[in-house]
Amino acid sequence: MRLLVVEDNLELGRSVESAFRAKGHAVDRVESGDDADSALRTHEYDLVILDLGLPDLDGLEVLRRLRKRGSRVPVLVLTARDALQDRVQGLNLGADDYLCKPFAVAELEARAGALIRRGVGGAAAVITHGRLTLDTGARLAQVDGRPVDLPRRELNLLEVLLVHRGQVVAKHALHEKLFGFDEEAGVNAVEIYVHRLRKKLEPSGLRIRTVRGLGYLLEDP
Ligand code: CA
Repeated sequence: MRLLVVEDNLELGRSVESAFRAKGHAVDRVESGDDADSALRTHEYDLVILDLGLPDLDGLEVLRRLRKRGSRVPVLVLTARDALQDRVQGLNLGADDYLCKPFAVAELEARAGALIRRGVGGAAAVITHGRLTLDTGARLAQVDGRPVDLPRRELNLLEVLLVHRGQVVAKHALHEKLFGFDEEAGVNAVEIYVHRLRKKLEPSGLRIRTVRGLGYLLEDP
């Protein structure tokens, strides 16, 4: 999945970014409201983690503009503990959840996971597909109950294909989900990751079909 982290506190922003990267998500991190606004206009995200006190444009204004454009991307707002008014305003403007600073990263991850699942149509935390299960919270894939060793990007790819199982996912859409905007990835990068994942899924009998000119399809077992 692809996340946008908007936080002007460098240390906090970096720790949130690395926590979600470690889970296999593609993460874009920006430090100002203006940069958040332009990232949100040019990319499709599965979750936005939005600090409210930001330079240029404040977080509430970023949120207001986002919803005005009709975007339904889940937004989790970060606020100061005593900022009740901000939280209320954030929720009224269409935030989906909030967390007060300081917070434990584990709680942020749990809330973020719930919002991402809700955003993709209420997928279960543990997705089962034939002999394969993916625990999206623990980031663990298993075939017949035995762990499959998947590096983080292959895990992310598997998650995206599972959420859209039975549908063709366009190659450019997969590229968007796998790589943040500061990550160098050539046009063939998606093919390479699909190829690797395909090999690892072979024992499970699951097939990722290439649909020429359209994208990839995780077939029904
Ligand atoms: Ca701030």
